[in-house]
Amino acid sequence: MAHSTSNTQIVTPAMMAMKVNGSAATQKRNNIAGGIVQLDMLVESRGWRAASALVVFIAIFSLPIVTSNLRRLFVGRGYDDSRLVTIDRDTVHYNSYGAVPPMVISVWKRNYSFQTMLTLERWTFGDGTHAERVSPGVLELTGVRPWRGTLLPPNESHAAVLSFEFAAGDETWIGRKIHLGLQDFQVTGIMPPDFRVLSRESDVWVPLPASAERLEIIGTLRPGISPEDAQTELRALSVAWRQAKARKLEVITLKQNRQDDLWFAFSLLKWNFGFVCLVAIGALARFLRLPAPNITLSVQLRYLGFLVLKSLVIFTALTLFWIVMVDPDVQKFLTDLAGWAMPILFWAFLLASWGLTGWSLRDQQNRCRTCCERLRMPVHSGLWSSLVIDRPRTEYICPYGHGTLYVPGTKLLDIDSVNWTSNRDFWHELFDEGSVPTSTS
Ligand SMILES: [Zn+2]
Repeated sequence: MAHSTSNTQIVTPAMMAMKVNGSAATQKRNNIAGGIVQLDMLVESRGWRAASALVVFIAIFSLPIVTSNLRRLFVGRGYDDSRLVTIDRDTVHYNSYGAVPPMVISVWKRNYSFQTMLTLERWTFGDGTHAERVSPGVLELTGVRPWRGTLLPPNESHAAVLSFEFAAGDETWIGRKIHLGLQDFQVTGIMPPDFRVLSRESDVWVPLPASAERLEIIGTLRPGISPEDAQTELRALSVAWRQAKARKLEVITLKQNRQDDLWFAFSLLKWNFGFVCLVAIGALARFLRLPAPNITLSVQLRYLGFLVLKSLVIFTALTLFWIVMVDPDVQKFLTDLAGWAMPILFWAFLLASWGLTGWSLRDQQNRCRTCCERLRMPVHSGLWSSLVIDRPRTEYICPYGHGTLYVPGTKLLDIDSVNWTSNRDFWHELFDEGSVPTSTS
């Protein structure tokens, strides 16, 4: 921006007045005004508005599902489920997914850490009904009294207890018969709202038959024993008994178990976000090492803060999406739709999280280092036939004149790298000391 006094300049009387009284305070005010204008432009940029609109749309659409799931994840099962423990089904793999053979459990039962260790089995049906077959004492272990009726009576193999939601709060269900897996069960009780045992989906509890093989456990630990102690002990036992598939088992509380899905999403996304933060810190370190006369630390921090904030918005949107995906009703809908819908969506989620991280970084490169506005006006220059003297390159410029970005068309040579050149503050240029520009031309 080489304006000389001979160039045409439109200088209003107000500017002349400011020029004459050009104090430090005026300059500061001008800089702040400029900053606000830049922020306005950022909020008004089309991409930013589209992204915000998308996030708001997803949020509104998914709000009921997200709140009901967050309630289940954080408000819980209607009793103190941090007292009860189970084994994370993702950490044991016997012949069927997540289950343990009865023989192994009988060995575990004899160990010291557990006060109680009871078994149960998930039982799901094609029509979307989820039940749990529970051994005697499982429902009693929660300490919850039924809302209406009684818990499962002992020595009664065809009794059933329903969740409040399954019965829709209708107590006339008691005494009725329900059909599960070609058998009839008589309803003896209805549990209070939100009550769950192990799985978030199960709505019906019936007695566990002796033939059950795909068992999971639920239990309490002795006083003073932590889940980690119990885990160490069970792992040692599994190694001693050559149960290699259980040597990495994890003992978790039921509270951890209900937040499992959410932690899984976090553990997927935290690497992406960590990567963004690492890039941001790396860029900051490079800035601090090299002399950069025209970019101040606060400007640099704002630029990197913009990157972190943008990525945080992306990851929030992904987390919302995930919370919707783990909803039992949504999962049922997708499973009914097609068997491959869930695996495809899982991979799509992973790819989207990588893609959006990459986009976030890429987009950042093409933003002004001062105002974070997208750079415009790409100017291609150079010749592909001349890779030494006149190399192909593209130059972008900030719409507010903060600087120019040089992007090499080829990376054949080490000297080529993406390079940002700041212009001097245009307010400075306008109000520079020296001869007053005149409007003669
Ligand atoms: Zn700019």
